[in-house]
Amino acid sequence: MPEVKCHVDTCTHWLSGMCGAGNIDILNESRGQMPQEEEQTECKTFHRKEGLGSYVASMDNLNWGGMASALTGGEMHPSITCVVDTCHYWHSGDECHADAIEVTGSGAEHCRETNCSTYRQKS
Ligand code: SF4
Ligand code: SF4
Repeated sequence: MPEVKCHVDTCTHWLSGMCGAGNIDILNESRGQMPQEEEQTECKTFHRKEGLGSYVASMDNLNWGGMASALTGGEMHPSITCVVDTCHYWHSGDECHADAIEVTGSGAEHCRETNCSTYRQKS
């Protein structure tokens, strides 16, 4: 499973550079148009921090096992479902075969402002 580093500090799943979600969905930003560059990708699982209610609303997608592991010095990474088949790391079954991915978008207010910066166009 790829490591996930995240810079989106406005997301309820964000925990000091790690992602506490159980699974993240990486999608194309524009419907019907597959990305040709990283800015055209997004983390659809982004859930904007807006008080306690926003945390409660995102609790159905938490990586409890990963969090317990992280507390004892282990690793915590969500599984990734990615539909971006124009990426070099994409494999059938919507799998990502990169060793690690980085999600960017510090201060994002909407998932459109997030990107998978590991995207690399297929040659
Ligand atoms: S933006 Fe995506 S990768 Fe980052 S913490 Fe939120 S759900 Fe996880
Ligand atoms: S590196 Fe490519 S395949 Fe992996 S999540 Fe990002 S866009 Fe999808």
